[in-house]
Amino acid sequence: MKKQKPCPECHSTMELKKTTIHFEREGFYADVENVSAFICPKCGTRSIPGNLAVNISNTVEALFKSAKEVRTSTEKDLAPAFSGISFHIARA
Ligand SMILES: [Zn+2]
Repeated sequence: MKKQKPCPECHSTMELKKTTIHFEREGFYADVENVSAFICPKCGTRSIPGNLAVNISNTVEALFKSAKEVRTSTEKDLAPAFSGISFHIARA
């Protein structure tokens, strides 16, 4: 994978860095940490390589789906059972 690419917004050279991506859906949130992404040092535009973007999207969609099922199957008195999930790899 190339380590540099031009920014689509301002044409500065983007750098491959780690970033956190925040997702929010129907009252749940997910933060995906240490995502490898091209980041523009000038305007802050982020670009995630295609395959990785798809993988992250699939993972988060599955997570939201499971979380929703837990919530709808939980007794009303206990709702919301939880509001977010934080998932970490112990040793990166
Ligand atoms: Zn830029």
